[in-house]
Amino acid sequence: MFESIVQASEAHRQSAHEVVRSLRMALKGCPECRTTQMIASPSLGICDDCGVDLVALPR
Ligand SMILES: [Zn+2]
Repeated sequence: MFESIVQASEAHRQSAHEVVRSLRMALKGCPECRTTQMIASPSLGICDDCGVDLVALPR
């Protein structure tokens, strides 16, 4: 009983940390054509125009 509560709070803490990290890298961009867009999913994907892997941009 107690252990399950500890595990639940630990999972909650980790998911909160993930949110913070994704907010900090909220922009992704193409290094080739230099377009930027908001990160809307966990994966960065590739550029629609040239197919290059998008990279997360630091603020
Ligand atoms: Zn591109």
